[in-house]
Amino acid sequence: MNCNHINHIVNKKLSVNAILTFLKNFVDTDEPERVPIRSAKIAREKLTRKDPVIPRVVTETYNGAAVVSRDQHTVSRKQISENALKVLYKLKKEGFDAYLVGGCVRDLLLGREPKDFDVVTNALPEQIARLFSNCRIIGKRFRLAHVIYGRDIIEVATFRKSGGETASDAARLTKEGRILQDNLYGGIDDDVWRRDFTINALYYNIRDFSIVDYVGGIADHKASLIRLIGNASERFKEDPVRMLRAVRFAVKLGFKLHDDCEREIALNAHLLSGIPAARLHDEVAKLFLTGYGVQTFEMLRHYGLFEVLFPAVEKILAHEEAHFPKMMVINALQNSDNRVAENKPVTTYFLFAALLYEPMLQLAKQKMSHGLDETTAYFQAASEILTQQVRRTMIPRHLTLAIREVWNQQAKFEFRVGAKPSKFLAHPRFRAAYDFLMLRVQAGSAPTELAEWWTKYQSVNDSERRKMTQPQAQPKSDKPKKKRTYRKKAKKSENPSGSEQ
Ligand code: ATP
Ligand code: MG
Repeated sequence: MNCNHINHIVNKKLSVNAILTFLKNFVDTDEPERVPIRSAKIAREKLTRKDPVIPRVVTETYNGAAVVSRDQHTVSRKQISENALKVLYKLKKEGFDAYLVGGCVRDLLLGREPKDFDVVTNALPEQIARLFSNCRIIGKRFRLAHVIYGRDIIEVATFRKSGGETASDAARLTKEGRILQDNLYGGIDDDVWRRDFTINALYYNIRDFSIVDYVGGIADHKASLIRLIGNASERFKEDPVRMLRAVRFAVKLGFKLHDDCEREIALNAHLLSGIPAARLHDEVAKLFLTGYGVQTFEMLRHYGLFEVLFPAVEKILAHEEAHFPKMMVINALQNSDNRVAENKPVTTYFLFAALLYEPMLQLAKQKMSHGLDETTAYFQAASEILTQQVRRTMIPRHLTLAIREVWNQQAKFEFRVGAKPSKFLAHPRFRAAYDFLMLRVQAGSAPTELAEWWTKYQSVNDSERRKMTQPQAQPKSDKPKKKRTYRKKAKKSENPSGSEQ
């Protein structure tokens, strides 16, 4: 308040109530819309004072961007999570720019519930951390803020730019053109160009609820088109994982790949083999375990991407015999899709076990044909197939052990006499083994009668179970002795340190 404000009160001879209202309005004016420049400046000065190395905060400019006002789009605050709104409002209140960006804006425009809400701002990670007591800074190379509300985490990133201005291309890129460095702060109009697809580069501005579109994302959204920002060939070379993302979004959203995108995937699919295995593990989980596994599998195969992710499986599929191997894979993916649709949990190890089962069997048979005994052949085949796969898509050790266990347990279904069935039923992973047996039956690799027996065995009472496991009750086709030899030895010879890690 200055002399003019005091003169205003004195000259107008205001009543006490009028003075109070005047003062209230005066205090309320810290809303950024009303005095954005003043309050923003104070907040920034306050927050940067302690840390002189923090660079100047960039304000929004929208050079060349289309701004779609609130009345021209369908994204409503009612669709946005309460926690994301809290973060956005707090940043705004403190004078920073704050936007929702990426998949959440894309999904909200389609009326879908976003998987998560990503916030982007001109506040630096340290500044974000000072604003939120429930904030954790993650990442070494490029720091991000996680604002934590119980199990809900809102990721808040600072605008980034591609780094061309300071780092030479030689230092930033591999010789294939893959990005190694991406860790420079920038403004919104730098940040936008490093995003992958036009539909993923829309910014929802909390200041006026508009959507800022630099790249024609709204038009592509309306046309249901997945289009890379910039030159498709360069963008895939910079980060080949974008090819997997293109397929994932095309399937999930029911969008079409832009011609450039489609052509360049075919040309660059092999570059995926240069991506670190750990990153591909996460991508594979998103590709196959989020409810669209079957279609994603078909599309990945169509574009030659599946063979880079799962070379051993592709080899088998290419020599498909009577549709059996492909059926096992498709059924496993369909099962996962159904479970996701029913909100049931899905696990990577079960899917990997199904995908790699046939390659493992084929390799074991090959080894036996070269004279190796059954036990050693199966054990070595499992190790080799898992080792190959771990190099490509990384599978954590506890999951490779679970895969081996599901495979090994298949032999136990053959034993239907005496106490073994009830012991097996009590095993913590019995259910997974049984589900796996069902997949084998559906694919024609195990007899239907075997599955029927085990289904019945689970549903009847104890006395009925005892009757079912009497020696005379067994079908003649059972040959437990031969199988028992393999199973016991396999267990003994299983090396806990394994060779696939
Ligand atoms: P969803 O979360 O629904 O799987 P998303 O698009 O939000 O989809 P995220 O991995 O959460 O995917 O990424 C958030 C945003 O970050 C993307 O929308 C995109 O703008 C950008 N982004 C993510 N990965 C890349 C990448 N590999 N290259 C360029 N931009 C990317
Ligand atoms: Mg996301």
